[in-house]
Amino acid sequence: MKIAPKIRGFICTTSHPDGCAANVRSQIDYVKSQPELTQKPKNVLVIGSSTGYGLASRIVPAFGAGASTIGVFFEKPGNERKPGSAGWYNSAAFEKEAHAAGLYAKSFNGDAFSDDMKQQVIETIKADLGSIDLIVYSLASPRRTDSRSGETYKSVLKPIGDAFTQKTVNTDTEEVTTVSIEPAEGDDVKNTVKVMGGEDWEWWITALSEAGVLAESFQTVAYSYIGPELTFPIYTNGTIGKAKEDLEKSAKKITDTYAGGTAFVSVNKALVTQASSAIPVVPLYISLLYKVMKEKGNHEGCIEQIQRLFSDHLSAANGPELDEKGRIRIDDWEMGDEVQADVHELWDKVTTENLGEISDISGYKSEFLRLFGFGIDGVDYDAEADPTTGIPSLADAE
Ligand code: NAD
Repeated sequence: MKIAPKIRGFICTTSHPDGCAANVRSQIDYVKSQPELTQKPKNVLVIGSSTGYGLASRIVPAFGAGASTIGVFFEKPGNERKPGSAGWYNSAAFEKEAHAAGLYAKSFNGDAFSDDMKQQVIETIKADLGSIDLIVYSLASPRRTDSRSGETYKSVLKPIGDAFTQKTVNTDTEEVTTVSIEPAEGDDVKNTVKVMGGEDWEWWITALSEAGVLAESFQTVAYSYIGPELTFPIYTNGTIGKAKEDLEKSAKKITDTYAGGTAFVSVNKALVTQASSAIPVVPLYISLLYKVMKEKGNHEGCIEQIQRLFSDHLSAANGPELDEKGRIRIDDWEMGDEVQADVHELWDKVTTENLGEISDISGYKSEFLRLFGFGIDGVDYDAEADPTTGIPSLADAE
């Protein structure tokens, strides 16, 4: 099957197995070009490991420290008629590369919020690894079914209190317009906290602990975002920001509960991922941010961010450096005064007419396509691709 991109709004409904594999290989090559990590995690569980920050969080400990990894994600395999999702092909490529390098790697495709998934992972840890010393929690999901009550909650991206009006870009038509987003109502805040807050992270740690598969000394990390004031109403002070506050409370609870364990929230940089492209206003901010950071020479993607998270924090000899609220800050370069001042100046000026010149909209769009394996050098898009590419450790389940 020849596979081309099919974009619908902020998602691409096709993905290319060879392009995704090339993406994974280039992330692995980057990690191999970096110094080996000094404090090496041995057995790593990544929840949300197939794309974006979670995929990078699987690649860095595997190829930077020789760690065994278990990955959990929710992706679609392809078939003869329809390609699978990018995260499926990324995970297939990751496992193949890991196995070729002699590394243990197993994957689970299904709902990370469910008890059943937690049990399957625990059984595998017991059988294969004994214990886990690092758990990365990197889920981005629009909904969660509470495994105890059976109720399903939906998260929303809305301001709280007042409607929010701000510039935004339509990444298809490259038009800069103004968007108004109505404030959260009813149970919106509570539901978003339920989906994207820390409860399920805590449930994972409790389940792993009760099953006796947490290493005596373990670390766990979940990801957050803060960003500039101009996105505060839709992010930090909005429904998702409340969920991220909850994540910080969960980090404290986990650290207080487990004598040998420490939980961190890492605040990461705004990057093009499937999750961030769905947030109004953010793609325009990212297009300007990329322009500024690329010009300053300090632009990073997921893999560079996560490499720094490990080398400077999680695996650093003296442990992570934390801000006044106890968080790891790998968004430090994004939030630097000069970068922010330059982005703000561009933000005030940006219009449909000058978008191509003063922003990195072309970089944004090509990175968006790359998420799905398109536009990658060395990949022959006219050749037949195999949409049925499988994930080795899931071969029996397919
Ligand atoms: P992403 O969309 O690339 O990845 C989400 C992952 O979650 C995928 O592996 C997906 O398969 C998995 N997933 C979703 N629902 C699932 C379910 N029910 N069961 C199992 N797996 C499921 O997202 P991302 O941007 O890498 O986001 C990961 C985390 O990083 C989020 O907490 C996000 O808020 C945070 N973050 C993102 C940015 C950014 O700009 N992208 C910045 C800072 C922090």
